[in-house]
Order: sequence, then C-alpha cells, then structure tokens
Amino acid sequence: MALDAEAVVKELRSTYTSGKTKTFEWRVSQLKAILKITANHEKDIVKALRSDLNKPEHETFVHEIAAVSSECDFALKELRGWMKPEKAKTTMTTYPSSAEIHSEPLGVVLNISTWNYPFLLSLQPVVGAIAAGNAVVLKPSELAPATSALLSKLLSQYMDTSAVRVVEGAVPETTALLDQKWDKIFYTGNGKVGRVIAAAAAKHLTPLVLELGGKCPAIVDSNINLKVAVRRIISGKWGCNSGQTCVSPDYIITTKAFSAQLVDGLTSELKKFYGKDPMQSNDFSSIINSRHFDRLTSLLDDEKVSGKVVFGGQRDKSNLKIVPTIVLNPPDDSLIMNDEIFGPLLPIITVNKVEDGIGKINAKEKPLAAYLFTNDKKLQKEFIRDVSAGSMAINETTLQIAEHSMPFGGVGESGFGAYHGKFSFEAFSHKKAVLTRSFAGDVEARYPPYSPGKLQFLKVMLSGNVFGIIRALLGW
Ligand code: NAD
Repeated sequence: MALDAEAVVKELRSTYTSGKTKTFEWRVSQLKAILKITANHEKDIVKALRSDLNKPEHETFVHEIAAVSSECDFALKELRGWMKPEKAKTTMTTYPSSAEIHSEPLGVVLNISTWNYPFLLSLQPVVGAIAAGNAVVLKPSELAPATSALLSKLLSQYMDTSAVRVVEGAVPETTALLDQKWDKIFYTGNGKVGRVIAAAAAKHLTPLVLELGGKCPAIVDSNINLKVAVRRIISGKWGCNSGQTCVSPDYIITTKAFSAQLVDGLTSELKKFYGKDPMQSNDFSSIINSRHFDRLTSLLDDEKVSGKVVFGGQRDKSNLKIVPTIVLNPPDDSLIMNDEIFGPLLPIITVNKVEDGIGKINAKEKPLAAYLFTNDKKLQKEFIRDVSAGSMAINETTLQIAEHSMPFGGVGESGFGAYHGKFSFEAFSHKKAVLTRSFAGDVEARYPPYSPGKLQFLKVMLSGNVFGIIRALLGW
C-alpha cells in the first residue's frame, strides 16, 4: 500500500493534541512495551541481525538488545524527576515572583535511522521521544530489511499505534515523510544525506539532531599496557560490527619507533580472537551489502595502499566478508586516509613524536570520537584540551557512549545535538520558562509617563546595590 505520509502525521498529531502522550502513565506504558519487546523477542532480534549483517549474537545482545533495555530501564527510573519542573532563581527585576522551567514535549517527531545498529539506533531515540511525551514516527533503514520488518511488526503489536508508528521504506518514503511538518527530526546516517535532511527541515524551520560520522582517530603512545590497549582497540573496531560503527577507531597514530610493536600486538591478539583463518570465524559481522563491500575493497586496492597491507586483506564477496585488515602508513592523500572507512580496515600512520598526533587529528574535520592510549597525564590533558571531538575516551575505545550520564553526539561535520539518558529527554523537549507573580509589588516607575525620577529609581533597583535599593524603597 502506498504511503500516505500526510495522513500518518495527521493521525499522530490528533493523538498528540488529545494530550494522551503527555501523561506520565502513557510514557511509562510505552517504555515498558519496548522493554517487553526486548525481553520477549531476543531470538527474533538476533535472527534479524544475523540476516542483515551476519552480526554475532554476542554483539547483538550487548550492543543492541541490552543497550535498548538499559536505556528504557534508566528512563523509567528517572522519568518522574525529569518531568518535574526545575526551580529557577529570580532577581529584583521580577520581585516578588517565582520561576520554573517546564520540560514540555515538542509534538510529533520523526526518527530516521540507519542500518549499522538497526535495532538500537531505531529505538534509542524513540525511547527519548516517548519519555519526553511526543508522538513519534520511526523510519528504519531499508538497508537492514529484516530488522526493519521486525521493528514494524513488533511495534505495531506492542505499542500504541495511534502515537508510535513505523514507516518502512527507502528514499521515496523518507522524502514523503520529510515533506511533512515535524516538531523535531532526528537523523542518524552519513553527512551527505544529512544535508538533504537539513534542507528539508529548513522549509518548516524544524529543529534537528544530526548524528553523523567521520574519521575517528586513536593515538597510541608507547608507555602503555600494550595487551590491554590492543584488545580494547580490537573490541572497538572489529568487535563492533566489523568496524561499521560510527565511533570505531578509523585510523591509528603512533610513533615510528613503536609501530612495529603495535602491529605485532594487534596481530597476535587478532589471531587469538578470530583464529588463523579469520575468514572461517563467525565472530565478526559481514559487510552490509555489495556496494559497501566494493567501496571498502577499492580503498584497499588503491595503488597507493595495496602494498602497505601488513595483516589481513582477504575478502569473499559471496558472503560479503572482509577479514580484519591492518594497513601501515598509507599516504595522506590516499582515499583510505580521507574518506570515513566504516569497515574492518585499520590504517596506522606514524609520527616522530606522539604529541604530533594532535596536529594530525586537527588537520581533519572534527571527529565524532577520539581516543588516546597513554599513561602520560600531561599528554592526556593536552589531548582533552586541544582536540575537539563529539566524545573521547582515554585508554579505551567506544565505551564512552555506554554511560547514560554522558551526552552522545557530534561536533562540526560529525553532527549536532546529542542524546542518551537525560540528554535524550532534553533532545525531545522544549524547556519552557514560566514566571509567576501575584498582583503585589507593582512598581510605578515601570510605567509611562517616564520621568528622570522613575529612571533614577529603576537604575538603583537594578544596580544590585542593597543599600541603594533600601534607600530607594524608603524614598530617602
Ligand atoms: P543509510 O543508508 O541507512 O541512511 C540513513 C537513513 O537515511 C535511512 O533511513 C535512509 O532511508 C535515509 N536516506 C538515505 N538517502 C536518503 C535521501 N536521499 N533522502 C532522504 N533520506 C535518505 O545509512 P548510512 O548513511 O550509510 O549510515 C552510515 C553513516 O552513518 C556513517 O557515516 C556513520 O558514521 C553514520 N552513523 C552515525 C551514527 C551516530 O550516532 N553519529 C551512528 C551510526 C552511523
């Protein structure tokens, strides 16, 4: 059946206008419904992710199912507190008065999701939208069709479809949705399409969150626990959907002197994790489709790069697998060092001094995430101060996004706006300032006809000078 985007939005807007989604009870019931989906359909979700990405059950459980349920649990625990108006301070300007900041839902919101974590990145923003009291349309990625179909089926089975709706489809359906007026659009995906979304949002002055990607660097110093560092790099790269993860390390910077040791450390752990013939391992995801497979292999087959492969490189198009691959010192002007890799290829580039890595990072666009492995406190400080990135982790990769207490979002070309935990609630709320006064304390000096005396009185009152204010009030 053809999509009638206008009718979908109209129906959801009428539900929103009824006030139903604003109630605490409705929000809780819908968050609990998502929890039920994760609890009752673990096997179905694992199966869908195997079908879309050959994603290992281990990763699907930890990165998709548990991440969604923990986001729901957290929202359920905190929701009452989040919904409470926040007291704000008042001054002499409005005396006597009280002030509060009320978080109100925005209305009817759209979440356009991507394929790499097709369950998590579809539902995590929906959790925030519901917690904040909005009606929401989810448009999952057509590139993960099994998960998209499952989401459509389960959400219509478990959730209030008068306010929470899944619209499946590709560019035509997304375009039809984007033609409508939304109260917020939340988009996860690449920056090129991000610009299409931003242009569509501009037509209706719709506020936007853009969760984009980019090249996430990791600087590796020599004064580290090498074994732990390489395990954490491997986990954040190949153990995160074969590097098809927006916050996976995209490339590594280390010193010339340390590079051989680092390559040895990585390769020996990779062999332990994925065996002597990683092509036989079922513990890393496949590439999402043949277009991305060809894109990745062309990065490797680039004549500036092909001779620099120091580990891996094998690929099998019939099952869309590319084994973990390390490239040492590809030139700065190679494609692999310029485009976001978003796959299982890891270039390592070398510098004379580890500190030079900061300049290398800053020569590129601001990344979504940046990592540093070092025990040098001074270098840690400089890295935090001098590198602008959506988020960072020191001596770790990717785990910074697992904490509900921290915002997840980009800066510069890696996007804008943030979510997770309370930041999701805020992303889908408007903070409404409410000032309340009684009829007492009406100051004559505020009103015309203006006079020098009235102006003098106001100058003293607004000066914050307590003695002056007392004098003015007493008319001395
Ligand atoms: P994708 O191809 O699934 O596209 C994302 C969404 O945009 C889909 O729902 C798709 O239907 C829609 N879309 C595609 N073309 C469109 C068009 N012309 N008009 C309107 N809608 C359109 O995903 P992708 O872009 O390949 O995702 C990978 C990118 O996403 C990478 O750059 C990655 O770094 C980034 N990413 C970012 C995050 C984050 O949280 N910051 C998370 C995951 C992925």
